Amino acid sequence: MPRTHVLCQQLFTGLEDNVRRDQTLVIEDGVLSYTGPAAEAPAQAPGDEVIDAGQHFVMPGLIDVHTHLVFGNAKSEEDIDLHVSPEFRALRGLFFTQHVLAAGYTSVVVPGDAGQCSISVRNAIDAGMFTGPHIAASSNVIANRQSLNDWFPSWVGTPEYFTGRLCATREAQIAEIRRQAKDGVDVIKIAMDGTHRRDNGEHIAAFTEDETRAMVDEVHRLGKKVAVHAYGREAVLYAARAGVDVIFHAFFLDEACIEAILESGSHLAPTFTMLANNVEFAEDYEASTRSGYAEMQRRVIDIGCRNLRRAHEAGVPFMTGSDSGFAITPYGEWHAREIEILVDWLGFTPAEALRAATSVSAKMLPASRRVGALEVGRQADFILVEGSPLDDVRILQERDRIRGVFLGGRRVESRVPGYDPNRVSDFNTVKWSELHTRARAMSLGKRSATGNPLQDM
Ligand SMILES: [Zn+2]
Repeated sequence: MPRTHVLCQQLFTGLEDNVRRDQTLVIEDGVLSYTGPAAEAPAQAPGDEVIDAGQHFVMPGLIDVHTHLVFGNAKSEEDIDLHVSPEFRALRGLFFTQHVLAAGYTSVVVPGDAGQCSISVRNAIDAGMFTGPHIAASSNVIANRQSLNDWFPSWVGTPEYFTGRLCATREAQIAEIRRQAKDGVDVIKIAMDGTHRRDNGEHIAAFTEDETRAMVDEVHRLGKKVAVHAYGREAVLYAARAGVDVIFHAFFLDEACIEAILESGSHLAPTFTMLANNVEFAEDYEASTRSGYAEMQRRVIDIGCRNLRRAHEAGVPFMTGSDSGFAITPYGEWHAREIEILVDWLGFTPAEALRAATSVSAKMLPASRRVGALEVGRQADFILVEGSPLDDVRILQERDRIRGVFLGGRRVESRVPGYDPNRVSDFNTVKWSELHTRARAMSLGKRSATGNPLQDM
């Protein structure tokens, strides 16, 4: 069988801090069979392919553990759950994998969608029908009353194709986990945060500690991974003690949470990118919505940075997720911003942040995928970057710096096909975002005490 030799002047394996010089990767059947000094590499045989990476920085394909592949760049919860059929969501998700891949992301974890959507996208790619990233697929987010994803009123509930699945009893929680395992998920997501708060402002967890432990044990018994959404201290604590694989956000954690995470071997993925974008682009929407959302997000960033910096200093392992799939975080655009945030806000070294985005995040994919690092026995998923992200991690966000994306040693056609957003997502029916009282009309200059300016037009 012909082999592929990749000649690398600069190689970052994803497992260590330094760059190795003058290295060769040898790939057989999509898998690395040699990584090491060029001088000691197996000889090239007739028929072998040679890829000269030249001056480009060679590193493992990036991994985003929080990409909502089937949300369609949603603007609202109604966009996510109401306006699009599950069939169309799956097709749309498949399309957007091309945007993700072109950004240098060769693996993604989908933390919650509906029915068989991400499972179908994953299966179509795995069957060779389409080229796309490795996908850790999920299904409905396990929700309880008053938790995230049970976001519509009780008289609506969570119909079949909503992202959330209301599981208000222990039996329902376990039955849902078994249903999803049978349907072929890789990851099960639990919405741990409740929307109710104590008098001191603290979030009350949506599940008890016992319920959490029972669910996590069952997910693990069935050989799947478990991810949780948890901002609140209590939710983080229960999840950490139960040994979930990754806790998203965790902004309000305390020392007891950090201890529990270190003890159970859990990971954190703050997914600050979405909050950062919310604050940065607030001007564009706050003027019309005046929701105070950006201000709230700014406060969460402040507290979250302080707390998560402590977690990092204590040795908690971090993964990288972006919450891509919303209008504020469109596919393929912002995934690598999380790497920059780990460095700028949480004090990671660039190498440490790159390891978080590769070999550490790889732990959320099924072990059989063997992704996340350039070492013998793993998939030859790698990217060629112009310039060194170790000097400036921000360059990973520049599309034209990603000079090659390889899956299993094969260069993938890196393209970002265009589309008509009005026919792909954004089907929400919101037409007005404020009350047009006469006073408001006056303040906008549409009315004046003396007359109607429009009549003069
Ligand atoms: Zn999310």
